[in-house]
Amino acid sequence: MPFCEDCAKYWAPSAMHADGSCPTCGRVLDSPQIASTLPTFRRVTAENIDIRRLASGLDDDQELPKTPWHFKLLVAALCVYLGWRIVQIFI
Ligand SMILES: [Zn+2]
Repeated sequence: MPFCEDCAKYWAPSAMHADGSCPTCGRVLDSPQIASTLPTFRRVTAENIDIRRLASGLDDDQELPKTPWHFKLLVAALCVYLGWRIVQIFI
């Protein structure tokens, strides 16, 4: 944690200016890289949120798992069966 000797105060990196200077006296306390490497949080909106990725618990660089072929086959068979049951109502 950077310490300003002129102000006799410790400053949190997020409380300092972006160039690493003291907010009170302006003395450079820390290298600007440290202040710029702080994590920046994006605002979550409906446009940038990915519910599928959040539900999977995977990181951004990991690929999402694909839907298994047997699940697709089961859904197709269910549609054929229910379609046939609807046809049976009218015959
Ligand atoms: Zn200061």
